Amino acid sequence: MNIPQSSNPRIVIIGGGFAGLELVKKLKNKNVQVVLLDKHNYHTFQPLLYQVATGGLEAGSIAYPIRKVIQEFEEVYFRLTTVTEIDTINQKVIAEIGELHYDYLVIATGSKTNYFGNKEIERNSMSMKTIPESLNIRSLILENFEQAVLTTDIAEQKSLISFVLVGAGPTGVELAGALAEMKKAILQKDYPDLDITKMEINLIQSGNRILNMMSEDASNAAEKFLIDLGVKIWKNVRVTNYDGRTITTNSDLTFETATVIWTAGVQGAAVAGLDASSLVEKVERIRVNQYNQVAGYDTIFAIGDIAVMETQDYPQGHPMMAQPAIQQGKLLSENIIKLIEKIPMQAFDYNDKGAMATIGRNKAVVDLPKYHFNGVFAWFVWMFVHLFSLIGFKNKAVVFLNWVYNYIRFDREGRLIIRPFKKKSFTTFTTDEI
Ligand SMILES: Cc1cc2nc3c(=O)[nH]c(=O)nc-3n(C[C@H](O)[C@H](O)[C@H](O)COP(=O)(O)OP(=O)(O)OC[C@H]3O[C@@H](n4cnc5c(N)ncnc54)[C@H](O)[C@@H]3O)c2cc1C
Repeated sequence: MNIPQSSNPRIVIIGGGFAGLELVKKLKNKNVQVVLLDKHNYHTFQPLLYQVATGGLEAGSIAYPIRKVIQEFEEVYFRLTTVTEIDTINQKVIAEIGELHYDYLVIATGSKTNYFGNKEIERNSMSMKTIPESLNIRSLILENFEQAVLTTDIAEQKSLISFVLVGAGPTGVELAGALAEMKKAILQKDYPDLDITKMEINLIQSGNRILNMMSEDASNAAEKFLIDLGVKIWKNVRVTNYDGRTITTNSDLTFETATVIWTAGVQGAAVAGLDASSLVEKVERIRVNQYNQVAGYDTIFAIGDIAVMETQDYPQGHPMMAQPAIQQGKLLSENIIKLIEKIPMQAFDYNDKGAMATIGRNKAVVDLPKYHFNGVFAWFVWMFVHLFSLIGFKNKAVVFLNWVYNYIRFDREGRLIIRPFKKKSFTTFTTDEI
């Protein structure tokens, strides 16, 4: 990988997301050599991916070049690569571009979509974890509308302009709200020759409430906001399959749609090589102690979404959100230095700053540790927090200006098919392929 030898210990970090980037920033000028490896050369601000998918923001405004973050840091190196394996015996990471020895290793690879082993759903539905995936969704939505104007088959037309979102966590809810706004403000004007009243936005949740990681107040308010926007919510419904045309469920309920967006499950983006006992079964996340040390290894750490730190308050680990990732990255920067200097490390104590979700124009729900509120004020809070959290002044300014423009003009000018998406689902495939 062409990293120079150093008299300082080498810390290799896999992943420049919220956790990894915070760690790198806090390790600057600390008498250590830092090597950051990521398969993208940019950091993604995932909370706004849904706005890219629905044409509200351009992709560049929610991404930030990793090299720009580290350009002033001494002894910090970035390499663009996918890490495929960890050799814990020889203390090496194995990546597509070669191997690298580490003194300390930090796994901050985040999470990926979990289809619970259903290959047919995986093949036919859309996931929204990365910028390319959001752009695929944007292209697919618009391509389907362009295809819908070509057909006179009413059922086919309805299927092309209808959506099913599986999973009513923050991503499903925010996307449903944005699609409903798009329907009202844009699609009916852009496609006057289509009967937009036929466009359905169905949100399916296997449990008995949406936003089930938030308070009941937030769930109820969000449900009301979505219903007012025309979204159909289906609770206690479990999707069993999607063949590219029809969704089947655990009841008689079926849905005909060309677009399914799957936000129903996540699993760790684990890298091979750790002992199986370090992984939490089924979700592929890494079990860590209170110092984020991977179970069974003294010099390997995991932070952010990939890590599960089981505590009394969080028996299944901390929420898979940006704040735990950032806070773990920050504390680990201090703990690694303490470990090197043979000083006792400090246990992680999560400072819960709350959760929030927005449901279209002027509407959001906010849960702070002691208060819940929703409506217009919550929406302003949501906007402020997201603007403040974006990396880079230009991104903040561009997003702010876009939001003001979209708000005043009821518009989303990013509705462009720049990179057409080819959906495999309308072709038939054999059961061997499934
Ligand atoms: C659509 C969406 C909306 C969200 N909304 C919110 C929200 O409103 N509020 C909130 O708090 N949280 C939200 N989250 C969750 C939040 O984004 C995550 O909790 C957070 O990104 C976790 O940070 P992380 O550093 O662990 O992982 P990530 O930020 O995902 O970073 C992981 C990094 O690792 C890299 N990587 C992965 N595998 C490899 C490999 N093998 N080799 C090299 N590089 C690799 C990836 O390219 C990526 O850069 C949302 C997530 C999504 C997907």
